[in-house]
Amino acid sequence: MGAATAVACNSGSAAIHAALGALGLQPGDEVITTPITDMGAVLPIPYEGAVPVFADVDPQTGNVTPTTVAARLTPRTAAVIVTHLFGQPAETRAIARLCAERGIPLIEDAAQAFLATEQDRLVSSIGALGCFSFQQGKHLTTGEGGMVVSADRALADGVARFVNKGWGYGDAAPDHDRPGLNYRLTELQAAVGLAQLDKLDGCVARRRRAAARALDGLGDLPGITLPHPRPGTEHSYWRFALLVDPEVVPGGPDALGALLRDLGVGNAPRYVKKPAFDCAVFRDPARFGALAGAFAAPSSARFGDRTTHPGCYRFLDRVLVLPWNEQLTDAQVDGIVAAVRRAHAALCGAHR
Ligand SMILES: *Cc1c(COP(=O)(O)O)cnc(C)c1O
Repeated sequence: MGAATAVACNSGSAAIHAALGALGLQPGDEVITTPITDMGAVLPIPYEGAVPVFADVDPQTGNVTPTTVAARLTPRTAAVIVTHLFGQPAETRAIARLCAERGIPLIEDAAQAFLATEQDRLVSSIGALGCFSFQQGKHLTTGEGGMVVSADRALADGVARFVNKGWGYGDAAPDHDRPGLNYRLTELQAAVGLAQLDKLDGCVARRRRAAARALDGLGDLPGITLPHPRPGTEHSYWRFALLVDPEVVPGGPDALGALLRDLGVGNAPRYVKKPAFDCAVFRDPARFGALAGAFAAPSSARFGDRTTHPGCYRFLDRVLVLPWNEQLTDAQVDGIVAAVRRAHAALCGAHR
């Protein structure tokens, strides 16, 4: 992954938790993150006593941007987490510069972005720490599992201790020196993972090839925006996400998704359906129990709505996620393309 160190752990959530654990956050610290990601990337923040602060996202990509992150910086910001949604790289170098100017560590959540690149650098190796999930739906899987990579050996050591109950294996006088948990990957899972590593290049290459074929087949549909990685970046296509403009395609992603389902193409309109801050656990901090102290901090930034996070709602109102994988044959991609075209024509009127 282009990093000096990699520490295995037993999930992507554990990877994010261990990365935050290695930073030594203090009560009241704020961690800027995205409202559109896996919950496992958000909930470790209050476990470390910090307040999640949700930056808005680019309505085209669903990723946080240098502008939306900058808008959320405060003197209490202690870390930033960037998710590369669906495998499309965020503007990581620019966000890393923003963080570096203030001495704030950047964590990259690359769980959906194995081998995605920005200017020839693998994502996950641009920030201070990069996190992966090996959950069964990811590019590389051990059933469940995860990994944290870093070029910084001191941070990697912190991660290794955090996933090993704070125990310093190899220390002259080892002791439990921090409140780490048992987040270890098993030897069996590691053996599976090592075998998967050899397949990763081919896995990502085949996903890209299938995506290129779909992009060719769908480029001309009014009201449909296809993934378009910024120049200098390579998408790794964990998913193939369309944006469906409800003003052009009546019924938007829900209607298109329903027709596609009838045509045998599984899909997920609106991805996570709602922003993280709209989920029950955040709407009612009492649900955090003993962790609720994290929210006593003088910050209301964990909340959001259509005015504070317009990009986030615009994206969720339009996105239609197509499952993607390295086994897709040309014929299957052509079938998906034909189904999208048929569903689109049915909604927009056959005269088109
Ligand atoms: C899958 C995923 C996670 C969580 O990984 P688990 O292994 O399920 O805990 C975190 N972040 C992102 C972006 C993910 O896609």
